[in-house]
Amino acid sequence: MADIEIPVVSLTEFMFTWFDKFPDNVALVDLETGRSVTYKELKCLIIKASNGLQSLGVKEGDAVCVCSPNSIDYAVVFFALVLFGATMQATNPQYTKDELINQFKQCNTQWVITVPSLLNTIKQSRTKSIKKIIVIGGDSKLDNCIFWDNVISLGEGMDLKKATFDPKKTVACYIFSSGTTGLPKAVMLSHYNIVANMVHVVSFLSLEPGDDSLVFLPFYHMFGLISILCCSLMFGVKLVVMSNFQLLPYLDAIQKYKIKIIHVVPPVMVLLAKAPEVKNYDLTCVRRVLCGAAPLSKDIELKVRDILQIDFITQGYGLSECLNTHVNTPTRHKEGSVGRNYDGIKSKIIDPNTGKTLDVNEDGEVCIKGPQVMMGYLNQPETTAAMIGRDGWVRTGDVGHLDEDGFLYIVDRFKELIKYKGHQVAPAELEALLLKHPAIADVGVIGVPDNEAGELPKAFVVLKKNSKITARDIQNYVQESTAPHKRLRGGVEFLQEIPKSASGKILRRVLKKRTINS
Ligand code: AMP
Repeated sequence: MADIEIPVVSLTEFMFTWFDKFPDNVALVDLETGRSVTYKELKCLIIKASNGLQSLGVKEGDAVCVCSPNSIDYAVVFFALVLFGATMQATNPQYTKDELINQFKQCNTQWVITVPSLLNTIKQSRTKSIKKIIVIGGDSKLDNCIFWDNVISLGEGMDLKKATFDPKKTVACYIFSSGTTGLPKAVMLSHYNIVANMVHVVSFLSLEPGDDSLVFLPFYHMFGLISILCCSLMFGVKLVVMSNFQLLPYLDAIQKYKIKIIHVVPPVMVLLAKAPEVKNYDLTCVRRVLCGAAPLSKDIELKVRDILQIDFITQGYGLSECLNTHVNTPTRHKEGSVGRNYDGIKSKIIDPNTGKTLDVNEDGEVCIKGPQVMMGYLNQPETTAAMIGRDGWVRTGDVGHLDEDGFLYIVDRFKELIKYKGHQVAPAELEALLLKHPAIADVGVIGVPDNEAGELPKAFVVLKKNSKITARDIQNYVQESTAPHKRLRGGVEFLQEIPKSASGKILRRVLKKRTINS
């Protein structure tokens, strides 16, 4: 592992050193409204917002939930909060009331920043710890809320206050992940973790002004927030921000803004490869495609290369707990591999039962070590200790091998996680929800492979005696209580009994085998 020096600075101050190099370049454009800001304007807005938030009473260490689709303001809010040591709790804006309450309780959320369309759900989910709700946009008829424009006005004319907190010990954001087992947990990422990862990533990314990018991946996930938002803004590029993904506006935006760099997940690669509309757009401006978050099929990769007339697709690997760890580069790649670890990061493969390091080309559990590894899960010391050993190595729950040249191949997952279109679905969460249903006696949830989405959540259900509900009833029940990506699109199958180990653990492999054989 080559040593890389990581500056010990607050994330926003680190960003400002880059913003100052390109003051007059356009930094961000909101696709839907066309609004844009230069790097100088972005910095100015962040300082005003940061001062305004502090004037309102938001303090260092406060958990501030940002529940909003991607926008310029989202970026401003994030950098403004972390500038004075508050923690951004990154939340999926599609969450239902129950999902939000759960997150607010876990994080002891004190403030929520949202948009008018989500205000009702936020109000219904409001927990006692929440002091105020701040709304971006909308009109002043919304009662009991603080308006974002007023926050900015409050911060007008004040100077930038220097951060005094420790970047290694201060949490910049909570991102939710189920890790290797159980329910979604708040991953604590320090300023230092994020800055370290940015330093690692940019050592290979090397963009330059003019390498304009388009982001639809959500800022509540590390791919959108760190790999795209933070890393792109280090190079003086223009980043066009989409609030959500829809194919035609996406293709239109690429063509209109002559986008050179796109970041995608495999389901979007499938659309690019197969949707007939793609040929109606001139996409020759795209020079680089970065794909991650789930496995990409060779066939789809080749089709997209052909359509975009590029000879390489950059594939990367990472996870919320360890951020970006591996990447293939045009000059350093192998087929089927997610690449080698970034300089500054170590990886090894272990036998999951004995912990012994395995030889090259032997499949085992992928382990990661480096300065970008999370501080831990919030309020979960035991789960954290199970994931990060005392020696600093993280057990990812992914199965793979390293070849003789250090290239990593991901072949499977030990962990329970289901990935639907790059979104995490925790089987334990759906199981807990299904067990609350009065007709259900027992349940096991797995992911079934799907060419377009990656995996689809499927439930195996044991009904209580004399219960008469259908698979559709159960699917509707889940649909009403969860965000759209958690729906039981893989179906519901009724069983007499859920296969379990002697210790009572659901034997998910047996359920998976059953699906494959059926
Ligand atoms: P998340 O924390 O939501 O980013 O999910 C991380 C998980 O996504 C990893 O532990 C892997 O299981 C999976 N993953 C991420 N990137 C890849 C990739 N390039 N190939 C295969 N699986 C991936």
